[in-house]
This record gives sequence, C-alpha cells and structure tokens, in this order.
Amino acid sequence: MEGTIKEHIKSFKDELGENIDLVAVSKTKPNEDLMQAYEAGQRIFGENKVQEMTDKWESLPKDIQWHMVGHVQTNKVKYMAPYVDLIHAVHKLKLLKEINKRGKENDRVINCLLQVKIAEEDSKYGMSPDELRAFLKDEKLSELKNVKLKGLMAMATFTDDEDQIHREFQVLQDLYEETSKTYPDFSILSMGMSGDYKIAMQHGTTMVRIGSSIFGARH
Ligand SMILES: *Cc1c(COP(=O)(O)O)cnc(C)c1O
Repeated sequence: MEGTIKEHIKSFKDELGENIDLVAVSKTKPNEDLMQAYEAGQRIFGENKVQEMTDKWESLPKDIQWHMVGHVQTNKVKYMAPYVDLIHAVHKLKLLKEINKRGKENDRVINCLLQVKIAEEDSKYGMSPDELRAFLKDEKLSELKNVKLKGLMAMATFTDDEDQIHREFQVLQDLYEETSKTYPDFSILSMGMSGDYKIAMQHGTTMVRIGSSIFGARH
C-alpha cells in the first residue's frame, strides 16, 4: 500500500466529508502507528479486544475516543467501562444489562450500538431484523439508565459480489430509517470497512470503520 498513515487519514477525511465519522481501526497495530494517525488529527480509534484497547488507552493521549468494534464478552465489560466512548456490537440484552451495571458503577452513561446480522454468512453475530424490532419494544430497556442506544451497526458478507453487499447494506439502511422513527435518539449507522465503505456511503452510513486501508495489512 502506498502513502503514509498520515496521508491515508487525510484522504479519508476528504473523501468522507463532514457528515461521516471515521473510526481508525487500530487493532494489532503498535502505539507509534496510532500516534501517526493522531498527529494527522484522528481522534476516534477502534479496537476489537478489551485488553489491548485498555493498554492503549493507558499509554496514549487522553483526548482519544475509544470505540470497541468487536464482539464483547460480558466478563470483559468492566475493564473498559471507565473510559469507552462507544460499544458498536451489542447483540443481546444480557450484555446491555452488564454495560448498564458497569456504567452505573463508574457514574457514566455508556453509548452503544445494536449489531444487526445482515450478512448471509453464518459466522457473523447480531440480531435479525425481527429480533431487533422485538428488542426495541422490550420494557426493560427503559430501566437501563446508564446506557444510551445511539443506533445500529453491521458487517456485510466478505465477498467480491457487490450486488450482494448493496442488498445487505440496503437492509440495514431501511431498518435504520424504520427504527429511527421510534428511537429519535438514533444518530449513528455504523457500516463500511476498507473493502466496502464506498458501497456503505451509497446507503447512508454515518460512521465507517477503516483498518487496513489506513494502517496496512494485519499479520
Ligand atoms: C477489523 C474490523 C474492521 C476494519 O477492517 P478493515 O477491513 O481492516 O478495514 C471494521 N470493523 C470491525 C468490526 C472489525 O473487526
């Protein structure tokens, strides 16, 4: 891949404009790489392991916003509860309750997205559209004062078939528009990665999660 991390950040910011947020997915990358992005003005970083994110949070500048983009195990929530800015992949009530409990302990309201399964692959986590609709109607949600649901997140199938990716992102876009009517606090639609963010931009994404196109391939 050509260009420096700084150049990649700048060109993504230009391409995405003001209305789409860039999460720089820095998993497996060393602090020096994150600092290059930071020096180019990047402040939102995404990680997929709680321990690694916490180590980075402890050693890097405090104005970084840390996003957990990966699958979260319930027993790991407590480690990130003091500082995490947004948890992207909440897929069940049990996890949301734990986030709420840990938010309360830390006197914080923790922002969360609900993960929807749009991919035809079985390997992806998330709620089906019908499960999401049922979830949002659950009366227990209003008791959870230390979490805030900010929107939806999904991953498309990893494929070269662009039509399929369009179909999957369209499902999420429709679902976001539908649920936003009853959830006016929704403001984030997190979809699009290095390989498919251009398609996500055609379906109303508000937040893309880019790793390898900024930092290079992971080993
Ligand atoms: C790793 C990861 C990304 C970034 O993937 P790239 O293809 O490197 O851009 C985005 N979202 C999630 C959930 C990830 O785990």
